[in-house]
Amino acid sequence: MHDIAVAGAGPAGASAARAAAGAGLSVVLLDKDVFPRHKPCGGALSEQALAALGFPLPAYIAEREYHGGILCMESSRLQVQRPWRAGVLVTRRDFDALLVDMARRAGAVVREGEEVLGLSRQADGVSLHTRRATYRARLALVCEGASGRLKRAVRPPDRPEDYNYCVCADVPAEAARKVSGRDLPDPTRPDHPLVLQFGISQVSYGWIFPRREDVSVGMGELGVNRRKAVADLRRFLADWGLLAPPALMGHKIPMGGVPRPIHRDRVLLAGDAGGFADPLLGEGIAHAIRTGQWAAQAAHQALDAGDPGRAGPIFERLTRPLDEEMRHALRLVRALERAPRRLIKAIMTDEKALARYVDILSGRETYAAFTAFLKRRLPWNTLRTLWV
Ligand SMILES: Cc1cc2nc3c(=O)[nH]c(=O)nc-3n(C[C@H](O)[C@H](O)[C@H](O)COP(=O)(O)OP(=O)(O)OC[C@H]3O[C@@H](n4cnc5c(N)ncnc54)[C@H](O)[C@@H]3O)c2cc1C
Repeated sequence: MHDIAVAGAGPAGASAARAAAGAGLSVVLLDKDVFPRHKPCGGALSEQALAALGFPLPAYIAEREYHGGILCMESSRLQVQRPWRAGVLVTRRDFDALLVDMARRAGAVVREGEEVLGLSRQADGVSLHTRRATYRARLALVCEGASGRLKRAVRPPDRPEDYNYCVCADVPAEAARKVSGRDLPDPTRPDHPLVLQFGISQVSYGWIFPRREDVSVGMGELGVNRRKAVADLRRFLADWGLLAPPALMGHKIPMGGVPRPIHRDRVLLAGDAGGFADPLLGEGIAHAIRTGQWAAQAAHQALDAGDPGRAGPIFERLTRPLDEEMRHALRLVRALERAPRRLIKAIMTDEKALARYVDILSGRETYAAFTAFLKRRLPWNTLRTLWV
């Protein structure tokens, strides 16, 4: 019997396994895929995520640093550059494989290509069932991401409106390059600032993130509506004179801040499975790493005290400040839903507000402080109708 069995070896599961194995627990980490594997993602690893990692990223993974970017709405384009780094761009294929490797090196037993088909509970532990074997452990950690059914061991299915949806593609720069002769610098060049465009339709954002050899283009929207996200992405890219890639991959992302149970009877949910992603921008890697580590810490403390049942409540206590922060972010999303153009425009024309927003990514600003700042700054009439 292992101390912990982890289902899913994305950033949450691999970070949990590494932390738990590093603390001396016996850990088995299972993933249905074999690493390295493709993962649809913008690959923006915020400074918060880098700080949570606890080790420096090798240069071949951190493809470029960003200190801000060009933030756009309609015809307004504002370049925000902060004196400090806001994050780095990575390719998830390489980044996730590195995290799995780190977990293995810390002592976790890693089983790739083994899908967890089900989970059952016994009086003294939990079993994860795959086609090949059954893995028994005192505690189970479900890190299957936003999709999947294992999380139902803890809570009923979520509502579609509690998710964002993103479509994206990693394309070689030349394949995306300009189709029109517009008088704009080529946004696919590796030295071009990151582009983030808001308000393509309602609450949505498009991105162009040029890396060393390719460019990530994508679109995130509230609610799960693939067709609309694809149409908006095409429109957004055309505005920048770019071709839409033929093969787009999409995925849902949970909206953090929505109340969701994250543990029940020796089973804990971390990362996207637990609903820990920024509801405004869909940033989830930092929160996946941190909640994975907190789940490992909770498991360690509970097992040390000889009371595995305590792991859930300890985990919940550790995640509470992040949950509170996500609730502030969610209130901002709700205000945006009510009047997207008005509120985005108000922020877009306020350089201080934009700079503070970028600082959320670097961990120098919180949504709590940012929204309090907005409330002081924006006209009271606007806010009274939007903020509830
Ligand atoms: C298009 C898109 C762009 C994004 N861009 C960014 C970005 O730029 N920056 C950012 O911070 N966040 C971004 N995100 C969010 C980010 O990808 C997620 O928040 C993050 O990957 C969550 O990590 P996780 O470990 O919880 O889940 P995942 O990364 O989804 O990992 C889950 C793992 O579980 C495995 N798995 C699933 N089911 C099973 C099973 N039954 N048995 C075994 N294994 C299983 C999967 O194979 C996978 O490896 C983006 C998301 C999308 C969809």
